[in-house]
Amino acid sequence: MMKRREFLRALATTAAAGIAGVTPLWAALPSIKIKRVRAFLPPNPNPLFNQSDMVVTIETDSGIVGVGEGGSHDTIAQSAGRLIGQNPFEIERLWQDMNRAFFYPAGREKTDGIGALDLALWDIKGKALNLPVHQILGGAVRNFCELYNTAGVIPGITSDMGLRERARLTMEAGYRAFRFGASEAPKFTTYDTRERINHLRSECAEVREGVGPNGNWVIDFHQRFDLADSIRGCNMIEDLAPFFVEDPTRAEAFAQDLPILRQKVNVPLAAGEEWGNRWDFNRLVEEHTIDYVRATLPNVGGITEMMKIAALCETHFVGIVPHFTGPIATAALVHCLSTFSGPVLMEYNYQGRELPHLPVCLDFKNGKLYPNQRAGLGVELDYKHLTQVLEVTEPVTARAQNYYRTDGSITNW
Ligand SMILES: [Mg+2]
Repeated sequence: MMKRREFLRALATTAAAGIAGVTPLWAALPSIKIKRVRAFLPPNPNPLFNQSDMVVTIETDSGIVGVGEGGSHDTIAQSAGRLIGQNPFEIERLWQDMNRAFFYPAGREKTDGIGALDLALWDIKGKALNLPVHQILGGAVRNFCELYNTAGVIPGITSDMGLRERARLTMEAGYRAFRFGASEAPKFTTYDTRERINHLRSECAEVREGVGPNGNWVIDFHQRFDLADSIRGCNMIEDLAPFFVEDPTRAEAFAQDLPILRQKVNVPLAAGEEWGNRWDFNRLVEEHTIDYVRATLPNVGGITEMMKIAALCETHFVGIVPHFTGPIATAALVHCLSTFSGPVLMEYNYQGRELPHLPVCLDFKNGKLYPNQRAGLGVELDYKHLTQVLEVTEPVTARAQNYYRTDGSITNW
């Protein structure tokens, strides 16, 4: 097994040889192979809902270990089996293989698992090149990523506080916007949409007062309303100038109802925190039905896919406002979105939370997340806080099948 120091020496030698001759850039990366993939449960899984924050590692024979996050036991096991023995630098080819080698196409859960592994592959490449991932993706265009807070602890804010005070203190903490859920009610109680929506206007007016005339606020309709109520709700708060209205109808109805909503309301719209792959929502972006995409990592299939979505959004002048996700995936989002030329606002919920398994991860300050110059994703694991739940060391070939074009690229079967 090649030790990390030997590997870096080999890398330097190869790179030097490249300067003298016409060695292509990819030759600077020596041939290494993936030998083991593991998955771990973190000490404090997401307490809010079933969003995966399982930690995934990809180990190579060079000693470099890539770190990712997301997926479930079975989706990781099958996809990881396609990686064993492969060159971790061929990320696009590996992504295509994981996504296409089995009869049933990856649904949202499996795409999340592929995304977790994809993060780890980018981490390996960054570590091998000794570059932060945002540098490999083209370099940062912004100094920091602006945030809005959900369920994080902001100093001074207490649970008994009203919307006006919470909004004011959130702005003082440096966030770009205050976020709240529309007409909240205790869970497992009656939710009468028509009655609840009557409270919307006064709640939003209170928030507008709290953030001040130049502050920003976003409201999450949380898919609570049917189309007619959503139209009424959006129009009722238009003059209070929300930054956007999030998830205005049921996700299953997005393709049908959002184009109708777009014609009937003037508030900016954001949608899609549950979306998986690009073909879930490309039409809504291409037709500019929404102003902001909520697509996030690893849900869309990882960094490889996120950058394609970024290109789609850039083409159609749609912003990216990703849903909050696990801490490693959040770090990966900073790398991706630092390089995106369009508007970005990230949902964030780690202020005041402990992450004992990640002694190095997020660079958060004054309501903002900063890109860093650490190699790869820039995260460090403390394994003693992790519980291993999966180990894959053998390739998965059963029931897998690929066809190749004449040039060797993967095609349909
Ligand atoms: Mg939401």
